[in-house]
Amino acid sequence: MRQKGILIVISGFSGAGKGTLVKEIMRRHGEYSLSVSMTTRPPRAGEREGVEYFFTDRAHFEETIAADGLVEYAQYCGNYYGTPKAYVEEQLKAGKNVILEIEIQGALKIKEKFPESLLIFVTPPSVEELKRRLEGRGTESAEVIAKRLNRAAEESEGMEAYDYIVINDSLEEGAEEIHRLVDASRAAPVRKQDFIREIREELYHFAKGVQD
Ligand code: 5GP
Repeated sequence: MRQKGILIVISGFSGAGKGTLVKEIMRRHGEYSLSVSMTTRPPRAGEREGVEYFFTDRAHFEETIAADGLVEYAQYCGNYYGTPKAYVEEQLKAGKNVILEIEIQGALKIKEKFPESLLIFVTPPSVEELKRRLEGRGTESAEVIAKRLNRAAEESEGMEAYDYIVINDSLEEGAEEIHRLVDASRAAPVRKQDFIREIREELYHFAKGVQD
């Protein structure tokens, strides 16, 4: 039987290198799909509509919320971000592992709605490295960098809610570590509930027969 795909949430501080890591996982393994989010944040230089995000305005975003078109959404640094529902449902059904690259409020909502989802938090090895990566990106002003570091401090409060923490030191190792976690999680009890129920019933049935 074809297994249904796994829903994977990847979060991490802005500048942790999540985006590059996700691209590497997809380059190495064919069974992953990346969900493209909808946002009210203006595009950064080089970002394309429908590739990095679906860019929209607040009115349209709020209409989409009202129409139940999002799996989850959150506000981050003054903008809305949300996961369109149709794509996620369709890809999971097709057996793909769907990656959501989203922040913590959204991640917690996903865990609540889909307890079998896998929550992974990606962090650079140190705060020094995080600051260096944010500055090195060259697309953000000092004010935005300060805002994102502040936000990272807040987000560090939520790290315990994740199933795994991956330290993103080397791209190849980080990508393979995540792939291994996803593969291993197929055996998690929460994903095997029908099997557990069946085997338990059979065991009780058998045990009763032996007792009688
Ligand atoms: P950025 O503006 O740097 O692209 O993204 C800011 C934050 O929003 C990142 O932590 C990113 O993972 C998160 N994000 C992107 N898309 C979504 C989404 O659909 N839902 C939620 N909750 N967060 C998102």
